[in-house]
Amino acid sequence: MTQDSLQRFAREKLARLDADRLRRELLTTDRTGPATHRRSGSDLISFACNDYLGLSRHPDVVAASVKATQRLGVGAGASRLVTGNHSLYERLERQLAEIKGTEAAVVFGSGYLANLGTIPALVGKRDLVVIDELCHACLYSGVRLAGSDLQIFRHNNVDHAAELLQQNRESHRFCLLVTEGVFSMDGDRAPVGSLLELASEHDAWLMTDDAHGLGVVGDGRGSNATPPGELPVPLQMGTLSKAVGAYGGYVCASREVVALLHNRARSFVYTTGLPPGTVAAASAALDIIVSDVQLTRRPLELARRFTETLGLPEAESPIVPIMLETADRVLAASKRLADAGFLVVPIRPPTVPEGTARLRCTFSAAHHDDDVARFATAMRAILESV
Ligand SMILES: *Cc1c(COP(=O)(O)O)cnc(C)c1O
Repeated sequence: MTQDSLQRFAREKLARLDADRLRRELLTTDRTGPATHRRSGSDLISFACNDYLGLSRHPDVVAASVKATQRLGVGAGASRLVTGNHSLYERLERQLAEIKGTEAAVVFGSGYLANLGTIPALVGKRDLVVIDELCHACLYSGVRLAGSDLQIFRHNNVDHAAELLQQNRESHRFCLLVTEGVFSMDGDRAPVGSLLELASEHDAWLMTDDAHGLGVVGDGRGSNATPPGELPVPLQMGTLSKAVGAYGGYVCASREVVALLHNRARSFVYTTGLPPGTVAAASAALDIIVSDVQLTRRPLELARRFTETLGLPEAESPIVPIMLETADRVLAASKRLADAGFLVVPIRPPTVPEGTARLRCTFSAAHHDDDVARFATAMRAILESV
């Protein structure tokens, strides 16, 4: 009987998603080159991937991963606090802390796990979280787990954040102020410097999620608000799965905060360490990011060439959204782009707010100049007809 109700539940939910044209399906997609994908029998040039520097296939990165796998095995064997803390972690965490200008860093299983574990380890029911409305789902999940009072400020609106702090800060013990460095679905950048000032005025702790900043803005170092040597943003989270090309998440912070996360972040304590090959790959990729500034600048240069050609607002990151409002229009545009040989993913609610369905175009150092020129031409023609 329970099974009948389970089947009915699933069927009805799916029917609802179909009716709203919001149902998603897994499509087999092989990444056959740094910017080329094979999907449903077609070879497409991808403007949909977050491997902004093509590092997931860089020969040095792949070689580092293979070597570590041969030496230490494919899996970590246990959680990091048990026996899974293999020697490659130490170097990776030192590199991350150095890039972000903090004393220490801690690597998690993924960015999602980093946010899910970090927020509840730092704040709880008596505390306040003030967060940008467009922050990623996993930041909201972390806040929900923490059970803190949640106040949401209008996107990138420092005045609104200040107002919420004025109204709410005093009645709470601790306060976390949360933003993204580069917004994942909009591609614009947060006023991190102003938010850092605001946080210090209200004794709030600023946390930035720089999943889409590391490797591609700030000469590869990401959305660090302060130059090296000055007091950094105290909680700098990010991922190793986008421009770094590997997998995993991190939080850069002071030595004490990192030690606290080792003890209190449940998604750190109760999960297996990352495979050695993955950690070695991330380390090798970061070596490239800090040594090749030209490479880190290229995705944004290509994005700007595209926005200029199409008369769009100048790109602030390698992410360029093209707003088409409805699910029908983004699905039609994405289909026509695929027919023209380009892979661009239609983004619909609930990933983005109602009425803001969009094509999310991402640019990579692996794109050729000519790929971008042809993509812009195809996009222009399609936008006139959907
Ligand atoms: C992708 C993403 C994450 C999650 O990172 P994963 O390593 O993929 O789990 C977190 N925050 C933002 C803003 C992201 O875009």
